[in-house]
Amino acid sequence: MEIHRLSGCEISEKIKNRELTCEEVISHFIKRMKDVDKKINAVLQLDEMGAMERAKQIDKKILNGERLGVLCGIPIGLKDNINYKGLRTTCASKILENFISPYNATVVDKILKEDGIIMGKLNMDEFAMGSCNKTSFFGPVRNPWNLNKVSGGSSGGPAAAVAALELPMTLGTDTGGSIREPASYCGVIGTKPTYGAVSRYGVATLCTSLDQVGVFGRTYGDVALLSSVIYGFDEKDSTSKNCSVLFELKDDDGFIKGKRIAYLESLSGEKENSLVKGILDKAVHELIEKGAIIDKIQLNGEIFDLFMSTYIIMMSTDCMSNLARFDGIRYGYRDKDAKTPDELYYNSRTNGFGKEVKRRIVMGSLFTLEENMDKYYNNALRIRYKVIENLKEIFKKYDYILSPSTVDVADDIDKEYFEAEGYFANPQLVLANLTGLPAISIPFDFLNDMPIGIQFIGNYFSDSNLLKLSKLFPKMEIEKEI
Ligand code: GLN
Repeated sequence: MEIHRLSGCEISEKIKNRELTCEEVISHFIKRMKDVDKKINAVLQLDEMGAMERAKQIDKKILNGERLGVLCGIPIGLKDNINYKGLRTTCASKILENFISPYNATVVDKILKEDGIIMGKLNMDEFAMGSCNKTSFFGPVRNPWNLNKVSGGSSGGPAAAVAALELPMTLGTDTGGSIREPASYCGVIGTKPTYGAVSRYGVATLCTSLDQVGVFGRTYGDVALLSSVIYGFDEKDSTSKNCSVLFELKDDDGFIKGKRIAYLESLSGEKENSLVKGILDKAVHELIEKGAIIDKIQLNGEIFDLFMSTYIIMMSTDCMSNLARFDGIRYGYRDKDAKTPDELYYNSRTNGFGKEVKRRIVMGSLFTLEENMDKYYNNALRIRYKVIENLKEIFKKYDYILSPSTVDVADDIDKEYFEAEGYFANPQLVLANLTGLPAISIPFDFLNDMPIGIQFIGNYFSDSNLLKLSKLFPKMEIEKEI
């Protein structure tokens, strides 16, 4: 039996049944991560000692007949913008290269409480800005399906680690598609929860009103299990909502019968690959066969022409303000040669941040100049409100919105790429962030031998039903050795 091919649910069952010890499982995954990651570069920090220590504790609990958590012994990885006490949280930036987390994010506490084993921290675009995982200070993540392709971003590490069978489940963050885009490129499930449903406490912010922590996994059961642990109100996060979203682990495939799905043809106009259209038609056909009712809808018009600019204005303004704390004094990298405080700020930020981060700080500063505030930021807020109203109308008639997750498969890793081009690549993903709606990318098909996903957006707090849609399509798994 190849332990790394088991799902997380199967692993915890086998540990509880004493078919495997937790120590066996964790040492297998440590070896697997060390071997495979030489080629993928998904792992920034492997907590070998910490994970083995926890594995031994769980084996002891089993011997003593103590209560076991639902994640009992499952190895889990964290995007490197989620704090885990004692480990570095770098956000894949030089400015935080040596920053050690002083406390746990709430999602981490929840995982530990349920006996999950956190294996380490995973690569990402610098401060979650990017769509190829090429802005990471620690180098790009390679796509396990083809090592010459990108993994997608910004959660490239968490997506690729699951696809490469380095880990069964991981956590990422999604501000404008950063979970669903790499999930589509790597052939795994990726979820973006309803805004406020999962605590963001202890997670480095990109854009306060758009970010959410979500889950990557290869099977419905794994994603449902980890979601059931991380969802829920947290008094430490002022944006947290008091809601109960229950994830069911049992089967009921018939739920799709009679459900109304709005099929969103395109938001990206010219850029949409005609082959992707073919894939979407196939998805529509399969859903109709399973009993869903599907209508094509268009979201064009003035608002939707402007809504990507809205995203860029909101995201860069927030990023400018959130990253102001990195001043060379309180956190991370500090320039050694500075002679005055001004020089210290200037040099530390100039040398510590990468190009893309600086580009967004400059954009955010420009949008919020006194003379620009109304023209850009306030207008962006107005458009955002209209988009939300528009989508609310759609959800009066429909249960889900279907669209491609990405308008193409992963690009070549060596392709010359201007990161800002990626801003406008997948507006159908950003729709869920601007509105706060939950969304999911589900592996669906192959195009030029690379995986591609489909996206469903659901109504507020319909996250568990949305996840059930993943049961309708077979999982993808890499057969060859990486
Ligand atoms: N590609 C998007 C961007 O770079 C996604 C960012 C994200 O979701 N963190 O803005």
